[in-house]
Amino acid sequence: MKVRRAKIVGTLGPASNTVEMIEKLIHAGLNVARVNMSHGTHEGHAKLIANIRQASKNTNREIAILIDLQGPKIRTDKLPDGLKLENGSTWVIGQSKHAKDYPEYKDCYIPTIYDKLVDDCHDGARILFDDGKLIAKAVERDRDVYKIEVSVGGELKSNKGINLPDCDVSAPAFTEKDREDLMFALKHDIDYVALSFVRRKEDIMEVKSLLHRLKANIPIISKIEKPQAVDNLEEILDVTDVIMVARGDMGVEVGNHLVPSIQKDMIERCNERMIPVITATQMLESMTDAPTPTRAEASDVANAIWDGTDAVMLSGESASGMYPVESVQMMNDIIFEAEKKPKERPLLRHQDLSSVNSALMVASSMVAEKVDAKRILALTEGGNSCLKVSMFRPQTPVAAVTSSLRAARRVCLFWGVYPFIVNEYPEDTPGYQRAVIDEAKSRMKLYNGDKIVLTRGDGKFFSKGNSNSVKVDIIKDSPKVLGSSEVIEDATDEKKSIHLDHSVCATCQNCVSICPHDIWQSDPKTKMTHLNADNVGRCSMDMECVRTCPTGAIEIIPKFD
Ligand code: PGA
Ligand code: MN
Repeated sequence: MKVRRAKIVGTLGPASNTVEMIEKLIHAGLNVARVNMSHGTHEGHAKLIANIRQASKNTNREIAILIDLQGPKIRTDKLPDGLKLENGSTWVIGQSKHAKDYPEYKDCYIPTIYDKLVDDCHDGARILFDDGKLIAKAVERDRDVYKIEVSVGGELKSNKGINLPDCDVSAPAFTEKDREDLMFALKHDIDYVALSFVRRKEDIMEVKSLLHRLKANIPIISKIEKPQAVDNLEEILDVTDVIMVARGDMGVEVGNHLVPSIQKDMIERCNERMIPVITATQMLESMTDAPTPTRAEASDVANAIWDGTDAVMLSGESASGMYPVESVQMMNDIIFEAEKKPKERPLLRHQDLSSVNSALMVASSMVAEKVDAKRILALTEGGNSCLKVSMFRPQTPVAAVTSSLRAARRVCLFWGVYPFIVNEYPEDTPGYQRAVIDEAKSRMKLYNGDKIVLTRGDGKFFSKGNSNSVKVDIIKDSPKVLGSSEVIEDATDEKKSIHLDHSVCATCQNCVSICPHDIWQSDPKTKMTHLNADNVGRCSMDMECVRTCPTGAIEIIPKFD
């Protein structure tokens, strides 16, 4: 079974908020559902979260929920439909609550939700609307409003972003609304929280300590979209759990020409420091109203994968576009093709891999690749060991074996890792065999002879999720019936005798496929391997079947005179 490694984050909204629609998105490849607190009400968000959990249940697939806090995002308030800002026209911008105080500007008042806009602004400063699509200049302050002149016009809608790249915005990174939204989100058992417009590490620490006080263990995603955050990336990486390259506001604030190199640099630094990174915004923008993307967009997604991103994100495409399912499907297909050309492993040069868990995770990746294992099954309690193995970018897909729903959802964002929920960690070996290996066999379509690599902690000195062992196992169906006379098939001629021990045969059929002399054959009904005694004379004793047998079930013993 082929597995996609990089993950898909999809923003849900009016075009994708029903259980039925979310199920379709999950089938198309959605891994993380983003709930954008910039739009909608708590009531609406609660319904959306319930619908995501329901769709996840119906499809039997885990989905992480990411709550994206608005931060000090400056937006337009409610505007009349079809409001056109002509080039060269003059408008007035001010707080929504002041609109009624300026009847003389009744027909040209642009209300904003941000209460400090007029104070933060200065003459000549650029005021950009709707991701920089509309451009205006501050001309002159008049009491509590600013007169602005439009240089690049267009239609302006309600709730659209406003950027002030020339102004020092005084609003705090974590606003009162963000606090209320976070409290709401915590009640709904969400998996990740994203902070918008962070500028320095203190912005993250403030929320971290709040979460700590509330005993809420929720990873924080820092959205890098301000020039100050780009400059302070190193200290932000010291404290954040995940990074988002928030190219929308970043492009508006620093200029689009700088975004590709910032993206590449940020992803590389995140990879080196083992911090997952999401590349976001306008990845398949034209799919908002077209069923296929442009070639540039397809390349953009593929290049983010080759840059080394852990996840790519859809915004308007999946939240309010006409083709949410097609967008997720398209992203899935592009990633899948891009991953056929694997990227070089990151060097992890800033990482101390000397802890037992880290070293074991590196070892398990290497062992899995060397023995061509089908899966790494990593027992994990909180998902941390899976994050380590993910950042080593193993070619072998990783199943995060866990009894914790929280950990299962968290790993949905991790590159190459998929959750694998078991009822509990089985203590004894046969129990473990039943609960993990047999389950894995059916869920991951593993066949006899397929190898898997298992990592786990022994529970004595290491917790079960803190691995101190790596083990290679082989999927095999034949039961071990020691002492039975029927377990050995053998055949002899004057030069050799050949044995097949059924008690250890994995029925992988490697011998069947490698032998050119038809010594080995597979019973099409039982799938068991048998020795074809009639052809023993043809055996050239090159020992290829012995070498290819993973379990040592075959013996060829030469006879000497
Ligand atoms: P937003 O963040 O969609 O919340 O604005 C992403 C970005 O700015 O790219
Ligand atoms: Mn943004």
